[in-house]
Amino acid sequence: MGTVRALHGSLSASFERLTHARTWLDPHCMPIDIKTNALPPLPAVRRDVWSALKRGAWLKCPACGEGHMFRAFLKVADTCSRCGEELHHQRADDAPAYFTMVIVGHVIVGGILALEKAYAPPTWVHLAIWLPLLTILTLLLLPVCKGMLVALQWSLRMHGFGGADDAPEPDPAVGVAAKAGDLRP
Ligand SMILES: [Zn+2]
Repeated sequence: MGTVRALHGSLSASFERLTHARTWLDPHCMPIDIKTNALPPLPAVRRDVWSALKRGAWLKCPACGEGHMFRAFLKVADTCSRCGEELHHQRADDAPAYFTMVIVGHVIVGGILALEKAYAPPTWVHLAIWLPLLTILTLLLLPVCKGMLVALQWSLRMHGFGGADDAPEPDPAVGVAAKAGDLRP
C-alpha cells in the first residue's frame, strides 16, 4: 500500500512540474484544472487592424477578405456574401470625403504649382490636365477611403454609427458588454 501511495505522490508531483513548465514556456497555455476538470477559457478573438485595412483598401470584407464590402459604388453591403459578417450598421459619414479631398488636393495643387513653375502653360492646358485628373482620382479614392474606414471601425469593434445602439460592440477579449451608460461621465 505504501508503495502505491509513494508512486501516486511521485506521479502527481511530476504532473505538477510538467504543468508548470508548460505554463512557463508558453504564457498562453491554459492547463486544465485537474480538481474541477474545468476546461480552459476559449481564446479571445482579436481583429487585426492592418489586415482589415488592407482588405478594406481592396473593397473586400474586413473579416474574410473575399466577399465584397460594397453592393453599389459607395453603398456598404448588408452582409458579406462569403462569410456572412454583418456590415449594415457600418457608416463612415463624411470621413471618406474628407480624406479623399486631403489626398487629391495635395496631389492636384502640387501638380499645378510644379507645372506652372516649370513651363507656365496657358490656363486651358491646366484645365485640360487637372480637371479630368481631379475627377478620376476622386472617384477612385472615395471607395478606397470608405473601405479602409469601415474596416478600421470593424477591427476596433466600433458600433458603426448605424443608429441601432450608441455603444461599442462587446469585445470577447474583455468578456463584458460595454454599456452606453458606462462610457458617460
Ligand atoms: Zn466576409
